[in-house]
Amino acid sequence: MTVQPAPPPFTDLAEIPAIVAAARTGYRDGVVRSLDQRRAQLDRLRRLLIDGEDALLGALAADLGKSSTEAYATEIGFTLSEIDHARRHLARWAAPEKVRVPLRLRPAKARIVREPLGVIGIIGPWNYPVQLVLAPLVAALAAGNTAVLKPSELAPACSAVLAELIARHFDPAVVGVVTGGVAETTALLAERFDHLLYTGNGRVGRVVAHAAAEHLTPITLELGGKSPAVVTAGADIAVAARRIAWGKFLNAGQTCIAPDYVLVEEAVHAPLLDALQRSVGEFFGEDPAASPDYGRIVNDHHHDRLTGLLDAGGFERVVVGGGADRGTGYLAPTVLAGVSPAAAVMQEEIFGPILPVLAVAGVRQAVEFIAERPHPLALYVFGDRATAEEVIGSTTSGGAAVNATMLHLAVPDLPFGGVGPSGTGAYHGEAGFLRFSHRRSVLDRGVRPDPPVLYPPYRRWKRKLLRAVQ
Ligand code: NAD
Repeated sequence: MTVQPAPPPFTDLAEIPAIVAAARTGYRDGVVRSLDQRRAQLDRLRRLLIDGEDALLGALAADLGKSSTEAYATEIGFTLSEIDHARRHLARWAAPEKVRVPLRLRPAKARIVREPLGVIGIIGPWNYPVQLVLAPLVAALAAGNTAVLKPSELAPACSAVLAELIARHFDPAVVGVVTGGVAETTALLAERFDHLLYTGNGRVGRVVAHAAAEHLTPITLELGGKSPAVVTAGADIAVAARRIAWGKFLNAGQTCIAPDYVLVEEAVHAPLLDALQRSVGEFFGEDPAASPDYGRIVNDHHHDRLTGLLDAGGFERVVVGGGADRGTGYLAPTVLAGVSPAAAVMQEEIFGPILPVLAVAGVRQAVEFIAERPHPLALYVFGDRATAEEVIGSTTSGGAAVNATMLHLAVPDLPFGGVGPSGTGAYHGEAGFLRFSHRRSVLDRGVRPDPPVLYPPYRRWKRKLLRAVQ
């Protein structure tokens, strides 16, 4: 939305090294090492979300016009579920993995110990400004790390509330916060972390990867891309339209795994367009601008970018929507038909409430269309199981869902992440725990017997024996 509260003061650049140093000292002092300490920190995060609910919902409304129901479900409730899931499974996740030792090395035992990495840097974007810094924090704390968070300056109210809540609920030796924009993030990236998780666009993803390379710091990049929805002739069209419209227009289309565009088989093209139009009406009424359940575009820059995509044309008609009001950040839920693959709206991730629908002759053509383009973050297929499996089996994407959009993200034990240009690494549930853990291999050998076969001098009999037992 354009009407924003005054931006919060940014973190003083000179203070940033000390914020990271505090988290490092905390890690060295073992403040989140034991499972009980980790559970206690997760409980703090739970309390922060419960005590801070009103402030967070207010900030999400101010930054993005999010309805409180949507904001609760996708930001606060989502993070609470991640906390509860981590708490419930922590002992199992943290348990050492037993590994079989080959006969020739016995007597010995081998195990893989899941150890924390150290200090995790978490850099978040503006579209789910709460969830996308706090869900990685759940994984970081569960795995026994300390962390420094950097919320997005483009969601200024959320950034301010998060900074205040974290300072109130956490010891800076466990979780620190840096607020600010490019200068502050650049200063933060100059510090050494043990892992960096960045969520946002690929351009800044490259900046993060360069900065991390200086310290040989491993990274997780949660990026975006154009996630297609394929609607095949066997689909239940009313259900497909509802689920696509829901996924697309949630948070006014500003969701990394929103269906970016639709490829629909010719046979069901017209019925799908009708059903999409109906779904928009059912969800947001005659005038979506008046719906309390419809969000706003984050700022003028993105509003101009999105209306620019519409102005650039390359499509035959607007099926529904098209209206915009820059002053309030409103952009109507919009469905476009007869869209050319060369249209501006098909050249970049839309990241807004514009849904291009492209007709294809058949499933093979849809598969080719997807396979020719960069691997997306998500892929959705509507239709019978066999056709869906064919589409999934012939393409690559970060995640996929059949007869659903977005909901794969809500299954805690499905790793969430991209592939290639849509991201590196994944988190959520145990995948998050493992992402922020080092799997340390430990061999523990008995002292007796201590046969001389491994030791020089390498006589013939030793060489023969070594070959025999390989
Ligand atoms: P953004 O502009 O808020 O940037 C994210 C972070 O990068 C911010 O904290 C910002 O301060 C920092 N930053 C910006 N420019 C920088 C620079 N030059 N140097 C260092 N740091 C810098 O968010 P965004 O990138 O506009 O977010 C939208 C993108 O994020 C979309 O592409 C979307 O698909 C993707 N996304 C991905 C996921 C996911 O989980 N994979 C989730 C949400 C959004």
